[in-house]
Amino acid sequence: MDCIFCGIAKGDIPSKKVYEDDNVFAFYDISPQSPVHILIIPKAHIVSAAEITSENSSVVARIFEAAAKIARDAGLSEGFRIVSNCGDSAGQTVKHLHFHLLGGRDFTWPPG
Ligand code: AMP
Ligand code: ZN
Repeated sequence: MDCIFCGIAKGDIPSKKVYEDDNVFAFYDISPQSPVHILIIPKAHIVSAAEITSENSSVVARIFEAAAKIARDAGLSEGFRIVSNCGDSAGQTVKHLHFHLLGGRDFTWPPG
């Protein structure tokens, strides 16, 4: 399977790693949309949030545990946003589940 984020999680494709454990990998987005923009992914290939099931959902809890730690370590005490684009209408360009952790500026709501 030709998946860029599987390659990054395995270390076959270079990235600026922020965090790693047995199931989760986090790295800086190559095209940051805020002063802090980190992607948090499961090491296992899951296509999107639409593919989360009772069989694979435990990694989502691990991802959010990692997110809280990463946000703390990044000094985002004023707040941050976590976004997962799911499917083409939402603008998902990489078909491996990922959570954008965005911080370091104010955000508007609703999102565009
Ligand atoms: P999305 O558009 O929600 O699917 O998010 C995909 C994100 O992956 C975008 O923000 C891209 O900038 C980012 N991205 C794509 N390729 C890489 C890469 N090789 N290293 C880091 N980030 C990447
Ligand atoms: Zn993948």
